[in-house]
Amino acid sequence: LHYTTSEAIEFIEENDVKFIRLAFCDIFGVQKNISIMPGELARAFREGISFDAAAFPGFASPDGSDLLLFPDPTTLSILPWRPSQGRVVRFYCDIRQPDGQPFPGDGRFLLRQAVRRARERDLTCKFGTECEFYLFQRDEAGYPTHIPHDRAGYCDIAPLDRAENVRRQVCLTLEEMDIQPERSHHEQGPGQNEIDFQYASPLAAADNLTTFKSVVKTVASLNGLFASFLPKPIPGQPGSGLHINISLFQGGRNIIETEKGVHSEISEQFIAGILRRAHELAAFLNPLTNSYARFGEFEAPRFVSWSHQNRSQLVRIPAAHGDFRRMELRAPDPTANPYLAFTLLIHAGLEGIADRLTLPPACNHDLFTAPADVLAQYELLPGTLHEALAHAQRSAFISSIIPEPLLSSYLAVKAREWETVSRASDCKAAEDDLYFA
Ligand code: GLU
Ligand code: MG
Ligand code: MG
Repeated sequence: LHYTTSEAIEFIEENDVKFIRLAFCDIFGVQKNISIMPGELARAFREGISFDAAAFPGFASPDGSDLLLFPDPTTLSILPWRPSQGRVVRFYCDIRQPDGQPFPGDGRFLLRQAVRRARERDLTCKFGTECEFYLFQRDEAGYPTHIPHDRAGYCDIAPLDRAENVRRQVCLTLEEMDIQPERSHHEQGPGQNEIDFQYASPLAAADNLTTFKSVVKTVASLNGLFASFLPKPIPGQPGSGLHINISLFQGGRNIIETEKGVHSEISEQFIAGILRRAHELAAFLNPLTNSYARFGEFEAPRFVSWSHQNRSQLVRIPAAHGDFRRMELRAPDPTANPYLAFTLLIHAGLEGIADRLTLPPACNHDLFTAPADVLAQYELLPGTLHEALAHAQRSAFISSIIPEPLLSSYLAVKAREWETVSRASDCKAAEDDLYFA
């Protein structure tokens, strides 16, 4: 179902479409949109639709002029929760400068470049994300409370699990939007859930995750609930992760595991490349002050390590066969900008291949319970956003991939968040002010 420009225009004429959302993400991966009427679409494809770039940190073009949204026809999707008469559709857009050149700070552009670089090395990556989230009750005015929707735990069933209808509606909505849901369950925390959908090419996977988050938020709202992707919404309870699964293909063959327990040299170098950059990547994989409260408990990693089975590790290579062979990166959380995160991960992996890195031996310890002498062998992930920002700031790797002014704006906004939270007398309240929305 990949429409061309003319097919997209035809679809809109034939399906009673009244509003067209031109969607894009800011530098933090937060979805934004402008709605246009159907009569404007042909022009949007041809000339783009302008928006005030100065309103978004990191987006201002050098001469302060507007940027342009060009809808990507292959991303056409109906928004199923909007009226069925006078329908609403959504396109993800590419962002260009007034002279027609791609805007270098556009996450979709950066990710396309990374995919191209991989393809030059005869490498195809597929990305699959597993996104956890919490459901909270709302108060009478509709504002989110901190009261979880239920007290159920891992894989519990109704009536203890009160979210079965929310997960059902999310899965059905995703299907209608051509995103194939695969599995869903109640997660460990009270009110915590997980819904997984099919892996895809990096760009489609990033678009799909962006769609997924808006579907979860919308369905929760329609059910009088509030969905939170905060990494650690309730102190002392499990955090919400965004596990990123990456599979690598060469000549159409999955090359992570060539035979049982044996990984191809290239895939080991790719993983080693990611482990090498773990500290520099943290500010992008774990972008909130709250992200760092999640590490080191409830199956969220704390050390730079890998293994086959153990869920305490940063990278796990799960027991899975055929095309499902993959590496699972367990550090990221749902507040990461997927376009920047995937871009950086691909480049880190490719550099690992280029530098012929050696993957350190697997860590076959449970790092949540291991004795101090074992733990001492492994590097810690950054313990705070402040520390992560310092690593990103002095990273030649990061600055070779994330262009200016995107990088400085990103780091500056994050540094301000750190200041606000760390200076507050009540850090939790300050974090909630910033993020619990
Ligand atoms: N909630 C855990 C995390 O913070 C992951 C649990 C799981 O493996 O599904 O990453
Ligand atoms: Mg999970
Ligand atoms: Mg997982």
